[in-house]
Amino acid sequence: MKITIIYDNTAYDKNLQDDFGFSCIVDAHEKRILFDTGAKGSILLANMSKLDIDPESIDEIFISHDHWDHQGGLGEFLKIRPVRVYVPSQFQTTVNSPDVIRISKPIKLHDGIYSTSELKGIGYDLTEISLAVETEKGIVVVVGCSHPLVSTILDDASQWGKIYAIVGGLHGFNDFEKVKNLDLICATHCTKHKSELKSLYPDAFMDGGAGRIIEIL
Ligand SMILES: [Zn+2]
Ligand SMILES: [Zn+2]
Repeated sequence: MKITIIYDNTAYDKNLQDDFGFSCIVDAHEKRILFDTGAKGSILLANMSKLDIDPESIDEIFISHDHWDHQGGLGEFLKIRPVRVYVPSQFQTTVNSPDVIRISKPIKLHDGIYSTSELKGIGYDLTEISLAVETEKGIVVVVGCSHPLVSTILDDASQWGKIYAIVGGLHGFNDFEKVKNLDLICATHCTKHKSELKSLYPDAFMDGGAGRIIEIL
């Protein structure tokens, strides 16, 4: 599988624009899923174009939670490419797609691609879903902000196997023991304790940023 970060608080590829928010493209099991859309459609589309990614190549969109820095670009993207959108069942913002799937329970989206349960955010009045992808090395979990807490998300995702990696925003996560057995931690976007994670797990830690490509074979 391949994950391409296209929207992030920092830019890994200096040709791309950095902006507060998160979005990545997940290529796995012959599907191309846009995970979250960042805050602004214009930046999302500009970064995609610089990465030579055609919006027409996106099969589906998965929105982790109803925060503007994750769903802000959705409306503009759907005008160009009105595909299926997965959202948490309690998602409030209007989704202008003819095909919206609201997720509450853990569900298989495709062979090898799953959504976690809709989990309640801690300290936020919203719910969040995360993507879990099967690889030969284990489960790769893609997260938006991890408001339900990383440990709760990983416990939920482990119903599909041993967790190999986590990629995305970990917010205030500081229960560092919980990720000690992971082989890859790409903690980016809103993650507050990047430097602690990096010093505790230098081999597993990877910096994110728009333009970062993570290939897991
Ligand atoms: Zn966020
Ligand atoms: Zn958030």
